[in-house]
Amino acid sequence: MANNQNANTLSLTKIPGVGPAIADKLTALGISSAMDLLFHLPLKYQDRTQVQAIAAIQNGGSAVIEGEVRACDVVFGKRRSLLCKIQDGTGTITLRFFHFSAAQKSNLVSGQWIRCYGEASLGRGGLELIHPEYKLITPGDPLPTADYLTAIYPTTEGVSQTRWRNYISAAFKLLDASTVPSLISDKYAYRDNSNDSFNKTVNNLYSTLYLLHFPPPDIDLDLIFQGLHPLQRHLAFEELVAQRISHLVLRQHAKVEPAIAISHNKNIEAKFLKQLPFSLTNAQKKVLQEIENDIAIPSPMMRLLQGDVGSGKTIVAAIAALQFISQNQQVVIMAPTEILAEQHLQTFSEWFAPLNITVSLLVSKLPAAEKRQRLEVIASGEAKLVIGTHALIQDTVQYNNLGMIIIDEQHRFGVDQRRALKNKRDDGLSVHQLVMTATPIPRTLAMTFYADLDYSVIDELPPGRTPVETVALSNDRRMEVIERVNNACREGRQVYWICTLIEESEDLQCQAAETTAEELSALLPDLHIGLVHGRLKSKQKQTVMSHFSGGDIQLLVATTVVEVGVNVPNASLMIIENPERLGLSQLHQLRGRVGRGSIKSHCLLMYQKPLSLKGKQRIEIMRATNDGFKLAQQDLQMRGPGQVLGTRQSGAAVFRLADLDRDSDMIDAVVQASDGICAETPNIANALIHRWCPLAANYIDV
Ligand code: ADP
Ligand code: MG
Repeated sequence: MANNQNANTLSLTKIPGVGPAIADKLTALGISSAMDLLFHLPLKYQDRTQVQAIAAIQNGGSAVIEGEVRACDVVFGKRRSLLCKIQDGTGTITLRFFHFSAAQKSNLVSGQWIRCYGEASLGRGGLELIHPEYKLITPGDPLPTADYLTAIYPTTEGVSQTRWRNYISAAFKLLDASTVPSLISDKYAYRDNSNDSFNKTVNNLYSTLYLLHFPPPDIDLDLIFQGLHPLQRHLAFEELVAQRISHLVLRQHAKVEPAIAISHNKNIEAKFLKQLPFSLTNAQKKVLQEIENDIAIPSPMMRLLQGDVGSGKTIVAAIAALQFISQNQQVVIMAPTEILAEQHLQTFSEWFAPLNITVSLLVSKLPAAEKRQRLEVIASGEAKLVIGTHALIQDTVQYNNLGMIIIDEQHRFGVDQRRALKNKRDDGLSVHQLVMTATPIPRTLAMTFYADLDYSVIDELPPGRTPVETVALSNDRRMEVIERVNNACREGRQVYWICTLIEESEDLQCQAAETTAEELSALLPDLHIGLVHGRLKSKQKQTVMSHFSGGDIQLLVATTVVEVGVNVPNASLMIIENPERLGLSQLHQLRGRVGRGSIKSHCLLMYQKPLSLKGKQRIEIMRATNDGFKLAQQDLQMRGPGQVLGTRQSGAAVFRLADLDRDSDMIDAVVQASDGICAETPNIANALIHRWCPLAANYIDV
């Protein structure tokens, strides 16, 4: 047993099975000690007491199945994988492994019985379990009782669920209760007035954590599943407090660094506004004022600008950029996709050409010579505005008086990327940051995860927009839909046809888009049809997109690469195939590509039968509302913040345990506790950051 002193430093290599390679993987997730393993909390639980018939499995559902291996083959596609067909008398399902060993392959022979645990998703040839956990069994083997409720962990490539369970179980053996104190004192503990038993103070967290990792059979399942067990809530409170503290400290550190002060240049702003065909909405003016106040003082702006799809964030960014550029400071705009970066290049070039401002683009796929030349233009300061993708943050990029970074559609980028750009100035001055997103930030998140940022909202759409009408119909009516596309184009309007993407197989979806484009070209030979997807070269994408925005292409077949930011106001009809595969926020972003002009716009959600219950719900919500705020709230509820904000894939979920909706009642207490702890007991503040936000601890240096 370890004592208090070395508990935090108890090395990972003390855990059986953790060698240097695994230790590296864990460290990348912020886990660098046995103690950290205890705080690697389950994403969810699986009830493994019931074996399901294969025929009863639904897309998206989690399942325990038993069956006989019928075939097992290595398939060489774009990605080599092992496919294994399982049959149980009611149906067949495919298991798909991208990483597998020779031993694994030779064990899965025809006739062998196995028990699998996994989540079903729809693949090319029907339902699949991707990387299921499995055991070889003989038919009739009883289910193990220890698997009553099995924790499923967020993970990273090469660390299986079984390994997580083993490591965590070993960590519990190495540590004892005294090593895991609650870091929230009585003074700041959360009290729930409606639940007296909740208010017993929790002194140590060891048994709480144990219970969450290995729930005993007598636990109240409903409470645990909903995350409402009092012990879960106590932990969630501590986590929220820690999150807020880490961001407060980050902000304190950042704000004391000096930054360039930009005094307001009225002339350039007036000149620019005069050349626009519209005037700013009041909401845009208000937000612009907030930004201009921020940059007028020699401390870095750290502001988040939220505004629904189409609310006009770009122009606000442009005016802010002008303030810097007119005072010889460079500005960078980082976009999540090349297509959006290209489009920003066009928009900003048009806006800024009359003012003689050079705009440059930097994306990763440029030919070497061109890239070198762009880098020079950027380093020399000739380019005043630099637009690009994540290529902008690479070490090879030298800036010249970088004054502000603007990050468009923030939820695609993490805090790490912001930091990388922040230190790109060699005179030691800090860079102003403006982060833009269409996803509304719930108060729980704003007060915790974004507590380092000030918050502005554009809460009004430009005048003259007509809401997009959304219709759902099944794939059976494809021919009708195609006819409708034809009519719209003949009336001079433009159309998007979106082929959706399953995460694991972007390539397949590019193929699907290609096939769809061919199909539509054959059926609608008179139309000019374009195709854009992620596998095209930058130049090709650029050409297609500019033909579409110029009106030469009438129908654009695309994957979700056009999801964010794309602005072609004459496009008034969008078809989304298989919308049931996408989350609400993503659908809303996509749909936001139409309804940008004054023509009435329509969005057709063409789903594939049979729809799962969740799929049905999502489509119903999309039909019922155009309000991005409502949709985002529902999306967060249905899919969780990690999914919605795009941080889940990286293994770094926004929260481990806290839940934005469920725990919103705690938020006032969280604010009070975190502000109090920061002010009164900085050492406890540090301990909280290390416990809950170890990755943040790396860069705030506490
Ligand atoms: P988003 O907030 O989604 O990034 P954009 O900045 O792309 O929205 O703006 C959407 C469209 O609205 C663009 O065509 C833009 O030129 C136009 N727009 C922006 N502000 C106004 C305004 N005040 N009045 C009219 N149109 C505007
Ligand atoms: Mg935008």
